Amino acid sequence: MTFPPSLPCGRFAPSPTGPLHFGSLVAALGSCLEARARGGRWLVRMEDVDQTRCRPEHADAILATLEAFGFSWDGAVMVQSTRTERYREVFEQLKALGSVYPCGCTRSELALAAPGIDGAPVYPGTCRAGLAASRSARAWRLRLEGEIGFDDYLQGRQHQHLPRDVGDCVVLRADGLFAYQLAVVVDDADQGVDHVVRGADLIDSTPRQIYLQHLLGLPILAYAHLPVAVDAQGAKLSKQTLATPLDVRNPAPALFAAAAFLGQNPPEELRRSLCRPASTDFWAWARGNWRLDKVPPVLNLAAIAINEEST
Ligand code: GLU
Repeated sequence: MTFPPSLPCGRFAPSPTGPLHFGSLVAALGSCLEARARGGRWLVRMEDVDQTRCRPEHADAILATLEAFGFSWDGAVMVQSTRTERYREVFEQLKALGSVYPCGCTRSELALAAPGIDGAPVYPGTCRAGLAASRSARAWRLRLEGEIGFDDYLQGRQHQHLPRDVGDCVVLRADGLFAYQLAVVVDDADQGVDHVVRGADLIDSTPRQIYLQHLLGLPILAYAHLPVAVDAQGAKLSKQTLATPLDVRNPAPALFAAAAFLGQNPPEELRRSLCRPASTDFWAWARGNWRLDKVPPVLNLAAIAINEEST
């Protein structure tokens, strides 16, 4: 099925570094419902650009889990590891604009720099004016200038001074792989995505992505950053910390817990009546009742224990 480009288009873009867990379900559900409730398209993209951390078996398992949970996406899944040529083309465009430069700094040298808004070291600009004679290029960085503000649909007005808060970011890594910030911007544009609903752990990346959109003359996307599910100690649930994988044999409790986490309050009768594996009734209710403005506008929220939501 093809859709006119005027329809809203959202996406879920997991990195296949492990199985899906409650935190990733929240991002999948929020992005899917926001797109579908507006009659739009919803795409899935496998963000396996970082081949050192991603595995094809995790990608397969993620898609199987999404299917078991009753998600359906439009078109083929875009796979970042197949798009190197396209990223290279955009990289050459940035080079021609004079917006990227080679950097010879090592990771241990950079670790000494002061941390920025996201806790990562802010690049001190060592190679910005040219590589020292004794140095050779390791990575390529994007020259970030000025300030970027945007209105997040959930978290409100956001503002970043790029050189001070994050510093020039890597777009082509020392190991030859293109970096997330470049890939995500190119892919969103190429796929016709017009709004991004994702976890608030990525909110600090958004100004860099908007900066790249401006630089490359691409459409500027709309963003809504959902609260990130944290455990009792306040740590983000993540595949790396081995957050409990979702149970594909029993999706309904996790779907309800994710909807409740997003402030959607599924009715008690529906919750009690659900036992079918793909939870058709859940989807009919969720699509018909989704309201982005009910999602708590906070960056972090304690995860809801899935069995508390069980029928
Ligand atoms: N691949 C990223 C992740 O799994 C998400 C990127 C995005 O939504 O922009 O955290």
